[in-house]
Amino acid sequence: MEENSAYLAFLDIWHEAMWYLFLGAAALTVIMVVSYWIRYAAAGSHKAKFDLANEKEIKTYLNANYVIAAGIVFIVNTAYQETISLSLIWVFIRVFIGLCFGTLHGYIAYLIFKYYYPGPLDKKLKKLRYTPRINPSNGNTMKLLSEDEEDAYLDEGMQAEEDAFSVDYDVWIDEATGETKIEKYKGHLAAHECDRCGFQTLKLQKEEILKQPTDNQDGEILKEYKCSYCGRVKRKTMNLTTNVDKERDLSTGKLISDPLSHDNRLDMIKIEIHGTNGETKLFEFQNLHQAQNFLKEFDFEKLHQESY
Ligand SMILES: [Zn+2]
Repeated sequence: MEENSAYLAFLDIWHEAMWYLFLGAAALTVIMVVSYWIRYAAAGSHKAKFDLANEKEIKTYLNANYVIAAGIVFIVNTAYQETISLSLIWVFIRVFIGLCFGTLHGYIAYLIFKYYYPGPLDKKLKKLRYTPRINPSNGNTMKLLSEDEEDAYLDEGMQAEEDAFSVDYDVWIDEATGETKIEKYKGHLAAHECDRCGFQTLKLQKEEILKQPTDNQDGEILKEYKCSYCGRVKRKTMNLTTNVDKERDLSTGKLISDPLSHDNRLDMIKIEIHGTNGETKLFEFQNLHQAQNFLKEFDFEKLHQESY
């Protein structure tokens, strides 16, 4: 009898704790999501909204769902209090069931935000990026220049970055006054920032294996980077493990461009690249020249790592 009352007292504390933890999780979820929405609404321009959504939207929603998953674990642990009071074993069973539901929610959220949500988000980002800009000084609607037209407004370093596909610049022009607005976006391929000129034009030029790795010792590889703008050459020696070496072998095969000729009727080119591990990547280009250069530059290792 005394044992039972101790158990009931424990249950009271347990249920109260679980209830407050649940409230905490619910409040945290609301704070996370609402503060993101406020930041989004307060972002001053389409470009600022683009950057925020691109960087934070998936992370925010995914983290909020992980907190919800924890909240589910807590709330399940307040259920069926009368049954639970019969025997301690039910507490463990309920904890287990709670963890199952929480994990299920977290896993489904992960799948949704990893595989489904990037599609709708991409549509939203495209809309933010291509909504005509307004010239703040006179209210005129600005026009987005095509890749061919924009070169005249970009300096050489910016053009070098565009040629390396590391940065994509959008140039908006007010046709009445000639005022321009340049916006910077991440390009399709990653390049390092050059420590001399500061542009993202430092690319891997060649690799040389200095020491072959053996089963029990790492090898050494020399990587030579060259800046396509200022010509700076940077050498870096790195450890080479057998594993990395094998991966390298698979991924060094560069794609070969198709020698198609220019055609003015061409509006857009889409290149879809399928990796052997099932990943697909879709790239869009305004002209053939760009698409061909992209194929020349393409290397799986240069793709931007997705951060979510
Ligand atoms: Zn440079």
